[in-house]
Amino acid sequence: MPDREQPCIMAIKSAACKIMVITTKYTTKQKRKKAHIYFIKSEEISVCPICGGRFKVIGSRIRKMIDTDGEVKILVIRRLRCRECDKIHHELPDILVPYKRHCAETIENIISGKAGETPCEERTSRKIMAWWITLSLYFKMVLASLNEKYKTTFSAQATPKEIVRAVANANLWIHTRSVFSSD
Ligand SMILES: [Zn+2]
Repeated sequence: MPDREQPCIMAIKSAACKIMVITTKYTTKQKRKKAHIYFIKSEEISVCPICGGRFKVIGSRIRKMIDTDGEVKILVIRRLRCRECDKIHHELPDILVPYKRHCAETIENIISGKAGETPCEERTSRKIMAWWITLSLYFKMVLASLNEKYKTTFSAQATPKEIVRAVANANLWIHTRSVFSSD
């Protein structure tokens, strides 16, 4: 990646949001049958995206998610504190996309032109699509930068889920509301 692109990433990053780590391997424990409350616990050993330090679990937070059937589920996710830099992180399962109410599968369906198979109203689908289009150049730059820096091998065919995880775990996620006037 040419050097001149680096300041752009840094400029956008300055509008960064809460720190998250996204995990792909986790257990989901339902609180009670029929209660839509699920406890999420990663089975991966995540490291701090800022300093590479190990985490200590310090509590939990609730995240609501609308699943592919349009049902609201309540996910109890863990709050982690880095033992090295003391920063607090939220551990998200990869069925979530940071700051989005709909699940990752719904968002992937919209991005791949299958909005009709999702529970979203047309207006919501259009907003999600516009969000993806707006950020796709930024995502591409982050992946290229990670490929360059860590010799990772994200291809042009990376799925939205893989892209979201890579960007969030590199601590380069941006909350569009803080950059653009509408979300
Ligand atoms: Zn740290």
